[in-house]
Amino acid sequence: MNTDKLSVRLETVAKYVPFGARVADIGSDHAYLPSYLAKNGRISFGIAGEVAKGPFQSAEKNVMAEGLSDIISVRMGDGLEVIQPGDADCITIAGMGGSLIADILDKGKEKLATVRRLVLQPNINAIAIRQWLIDNEWELISEEIIEEDNKIYEILAAEKGDALKPYRDVPFETGILVGPFLLQRKEAPFTKKWLLEKKNWKRIYEQLESAAPSAETEEKKQEVVKKINLIEEVLDNEESEWS
Ligand code: SAM
Repeated sequence: MNTDKLSVRLETVAKYVPFGARVADIGSDHAYLPSYLAKNGRISFGIAGEVAKGPFQSAEKNVMAEGLSDIISVRMGDGLEVIQPGDADCITIAGMGGSLIADILDKGKEKLATVRRLVLQPNINAIAIRQWLIDNEWELISEEIIEEDNKIYEILAAEKGDALKPYRDVPFETGILVGPFLLQRKEAPFTKKWLLEKKNWKRIYEQLESAAPSAETEEKKQEVVKKINLIEEVLDNEESEWS
């Protein structure tokens, strides 16, 4: 991956950045995403935000080497603290856990006043982001699920709006866990992901079965069974090499 050729994962994130946007990429690492967008004339301004010194320095180095310093500002800081109100109309946060992404958005809520689109790519725990979007009145407008190098990624795009709209045509508990749009499409990476999760929960259940009985163990077992049942319903009891 470099500033000319992104991974499929980051290219999918890039696809949801509106043409001409002022984008802030939080946790930008090498600044590949904003650099790629700037080189292709897709953004009018970019911020590459980084909390860690090493990635910040490599973002600075890349942006300078590409001659993009007029368009991209590389800033060191925690989450949305690198942006001032009005700096950005689109925020991308990719390659972190869903809880961390939700936390970054929550801590920087006041910076979101002028932001019109969020493009978020959690590596795990996308449910934490879907919950945050609902709690903060952001409407999920699109979801994608892709497989690259044997890993499965979800990409979520949201805009201010009717946060519950995507959940009206699906069972809420299932929709928030697996994604309301992804649930309706059930593409191959989706099926693979949830068969793997089910297998994992079955393993956890077996471990709990052999643990010393207690009220806590029983409660955990019930939670796990609930999740397994939910996924079995989603997958219509589909079996495969991953089940
Ligand atoms: N966004 C790039 C991508 O998707 O390929 C890089 C992902 S990398 C795994 C995660 C980056 O986020 C790291 O460089 C890390 O330093 C940065 N990061 C983690 N927490 C952060 C925070 N609170 N604020 C800014 N950057 C953060």
